Amino acid sequence: MTEMTIDRPNGTPRIVIIGCGFGGLFAAQALAGACVAVTVIDRANHHLFQPLLYQVATAGLSATAIAAPIRHVLRRQSNPLVLMAEVLAIDGGRRVVVLEDGTEVAYHYLIVASGAAHSYFGHDEWAPCAPGLKTLDDALEIRRRVLVAYERAERETADARRAPWLTFVVIGAGATGVEMAGTLAEIARLTLRDEFRRFDSRAARVILLEAGERVLPAYPADLTEKLIALAEHPSEAGSGVSVSRFWKQGAVDYKQVPQLEGVDLDAYRKDGSIEVKVSVGK
Ligand SMILES: Cc1cc2nc3c(=O)[nH]c(=O)nc-3n(C[C@H](O)[C@H](O)[C@H](O)COP(=O)(O)OP(=O)(O)OC[C@H]3O[C@@H](n4cnc5c(N)ncnc54)[C@H](O)[C@@H]3O)c2cc1C
Repeated sequence: MTEMTIDRPNGTPRIVIIGCGFGGLFAAQALAGACVAVTVIDRANHHLFQPLLYQVATAGLSATAIAAPIRHVLRRQSNPLVLMAEVLAIDGGRRVVVLEDGTEVAYHYLIVASGAAHSYFGHDEWAPCAPGLKTLDDALEIRRRVLVAYERAERETADARRAPWLTFVVIGAGATGVEMAGTLAEIARLTLRDEFRRFDSRAARVILLEAGERVLPAYPADLTEKLIALAEHPSEAGSGVSVSRFWKQGAVDYKQVPQLEGVDLDAYRKDGSIEVKVSVGK
């Protein structure tokens, strides 16, 4: 067994923190100056500001703008040892955490701040079509797919074949879905407006799908109304987002979503660097 802590006098409490997102980082910082040995373990070497991941995914920010090396953030603090490693198991009986290479790290106190995983709400088959948005890798993959779609659109000479490349579907109108849809529309209407010769990027369509009662379900209803008004009456600087609602019950698929009418999503999938399949329920 290998014990990994900074050397401290015998009896110094050893605190292991798994994960250095918001929770883990604040825990480590709160222990600054305390007479404890802290070991911070994260599978990534950076702390990530997740709320701005969608800006990286849509090319509004670079990765380095929202990520900072954990050891740099904690550099002025004397007690934490920072380890980049994946925790595979916790043995509560023996008070050790087990890393991916079998190394064991002993603790007196353990803080688990490993965050949450994304969910497809029972539709795990969507995973290849739409990556999650929890890590920098996820954001960069989404960005790659979005930008490649515009590049492919420029290579198409027929409008009918170009339209699918310029159709972006966001499933789920919670805060992140709304942010993503809004930024995709902003790219189309503002950022890329003068960049292409064979099409006007403002022709791109962003479709936000929500199966629940309303978009932004966790927020006050008047925000829902404002969002829909913005979507229905886009101005030059407006949203450019279509909002559609479809039911969980029954065999509903993307062909029944009015905004997708005329878009050959089957062809899109065959070609696809962005693949879309909207189907909910059994
Ligand atoms: C796109 C997006 C937008 C968001 N927008 C907002 C917002 O506007 N406002 C708001 O308040 N919140 C927002 N959130 C939520 C907020 O970011 C999270 O609630 C917060 O990041 C959770 O912090 P955490 O420390 O619990 O977990 P995380 O920040 O997820 O950190 C967990 C850490 O644990 C590490 N880890 C996980 N498993 C292991 C393992 N086995 N071994 C080693 N390390 C591991 C990970 O690498 C990660 O660094 C958003 C989240 C996302 C994804």
